[in-house]
Amino acid sequence: VSKSNKPNLRIPGPTTLFPIVRKIMGGEAFNHRGPRFEEILSETSEKLKEVFHTKEDVFVLTTSGTGGLEAAIVNTLSPMDKVISVSIGTFGDRFSEIAKSYGANVIDLKYIYGTFAEPEDIKKVLLKHPDTKAVLITHNETSTGVTNDLKTIAQIVKANSQALLIVDGVSSVAAIPLNTDEWKCDVVVTASQKGFGVPPGLAMLSFNKKAWDAYNKSKMPKFYFDLGKAKKSLEKKQTPFTPAIHQIEALNAGLDIMLRETLPVTIKRHLNTMHKVRKEIRKMGFELLADDDHASSVLTSVKSDKSAEIVKDMRKKGVEIAGGYGPLAGKIFRIGHLGHFTVKEITHTLKTIKEVASKIK
Ligand SMILES: *Cc1c(COP(=O)(O)O)cnc(C)c1O
Repeated sequence: VSKSNKPNLRIPGPTTLFPIVRKIMGGEAFNHRGPRFEEILSETSEKLKEVFHTKEDVFVLTTSGTGGLEAAIVNTLSPMDKVISVSIGTFGDRFSEIAKSYGANVIDLKYIYGTFAEPEDIKKVLLKHPDTKAVLITHNETSTGVTNDLKTIAQIVKANSQALLIVDGVSSVAAIPLNTDEWKCDVVVTASQKGFGVPPGLAMLSFNKKAWDAYNKSKMPKFYFDLGKAKKSLEKKQTPFTPAIHQIEALNAGLDIMLRETLPVTIKRHLNTMHKVRKEIRKMGFELLADDDHASSVLTSVKSDKSAEIVKDMRKKGVEIAGGYGPLAGKIFRIGHLGHFTVKEITHTLKTIKEVASKIK
């Protein structure tokens, strides 16, 4: 724990909170059916449209990112619908499991953890399965630190099929370029604790006209996540059920700060940090998991058989980094540089890794 008693939170979510967010989260409760909340919700939804680069509907759901992914599935598909799930890591695998658990006929296109999805492979599978209803894709795979070429993948999906493109943008929206409307992404899901500097508990999702056409035919069971209900409520600046009012108020305030920085500057800030982290980590003699062309700008995965020890020793020094998941458990550690962070925090993290690693090696 550092002098300020605040750990240096260098995991890829939950990310550091904006000070205004911390203040709002400690505030008094208020009426979720009153004018104050109506104003907060409609402002938040409009600001989110800017961040998503969309003119379509954007919803704020009280749930985690996974709940947002589940909402995307149950509102667009029916049991037995053919779905292509493209996975390059743990979160891609989870998206596939959600679709399977609701009875979709899932064709898995899986890649070795640490690699990226090849757009031409997706084209081949699509041409083999012209009745595909949806393609599920992770934009930025947080378990490996690899970013897929979503723009090219979207072009391929749209040029070769009628399928919906459903994007897990949980760790990319607001930090990595994602032009929802221009790229024709039909549903994009993100969450408050990743690029937004707000505590976990909110999923935000865009839903376009093609997605609404699919909604009208969709037969998967839904109640809490029924976006038809959410749309009717949002027209009255409300939510169907009691929402996380503090979190939404905090998100609204956080969005002001983000839009003031402007998205191009935010994106550049993440990229610059990625370059700095990759350079310094390589100087220490480590190998990186992701290749330079597909490396994520929001987190860096570092290969090390001593990763569990490194994570533990870093914690003792007040810096929280993350280990690996699934096949990468014990093989990598991950450094988060997502959302609201300072150059000082990154420099301190790199210095601490150097100290810790020199004692372990
Ligand atoms: C964090 C994350 C999720 C899961 O979000 P939860 O809020 O933990 O449910 C899904 N996909 C990606 C890419 C993520 O980074």
